Amino acid sequence: MLSSTNPTISNTADLYQLLYVSRITSIGLSGASTLNDIAKISVKNNKADNVTGILCYGNGYFFQYVEGSEQALTDLKNRILMDDRHKDMHTLEISALLKRRFTGWSLRSITLERWMLSDSRVKALMPFKPYNWDAKERRQFIDTLQGYYEEQKNIGDIDTQPIKYNVLGLTLSKVVGEHQAFFLIQTILGLLIILTLLWFMLSDKF
Ligand code: FAD
Repeated sequence: MLSSTNPTISNTADLYQLLYVSRITSIGLSGASTLNDIAKISVKNNKADNVTGILCYGNGYFFQYVEGSEQALTDLKNRILMDDRHKDMHTLEISALLKRRFTGWSLRSITLERWMLSDSRVKALMPFKPYNWDAKERRQFIDTLQGYYEEQKNIGDIDTQPIKYNVLGLTLSKVVGEHQAFFLIQTILGLLIILTLLWFMLSDKF
């Protein structure tokens, strides 16, 4: 059962919002297309449950905002909690809502994209570490996402998933880029060990 943190709104329409942050796990990172997989099942389920919202991924963190009935969000939260593709799920807000923000998006998933970084309000929140944000910063971020939604709505781009890349690819390029020397030395050492083992095995035969 969700408990409303905003008792000032009389919620006759049974509309609630759920906001949480979490961290991707090695299972999530190793999936060939984790973000696409999540987006696919989410759009299907959320459509059926009349849930709308947005999932943002960046820097190893998920930031999700969803809106729907109390029951739908309770069920969704329980499913998401069990998902081993992420961990440390920290609920930031569960409260009654008067009006949906993302009416046409069953779940839009986005990674931190260039358009976001060009927005000075978002840029001020970088690097993307949503665990550290205060309530004002969270609102600001959701407002920016909503602004993006309104823009997309005006050009008729509703409920399409723009992600064409996998999480591992994104993270690997970042990690490898930062630790090139380390990976090079590890690779050389690995090769030397394999060659030594081969030499021991074959030397008996000569
Ligand atoms: P499950 O038994 O959980 O799984 C059904 C299908 O999900 C599987 O066939 C498989 O394709 C996929 N799946 C589940 N776990 C894995 C895994 N470890 N690796 C690969 N594939 C897997 N679901 C929603 O319905 N709406 C959302 O808004 C939503 N947001 C999410 C946000 C995040 C950050 C994450 C990590 C997950 C989210 N999910 C969402 C997915 C959710 O956790 C459930 O997997 C999904 O709702 C299906 O639940 P289920 O109990 O019906 O089936």
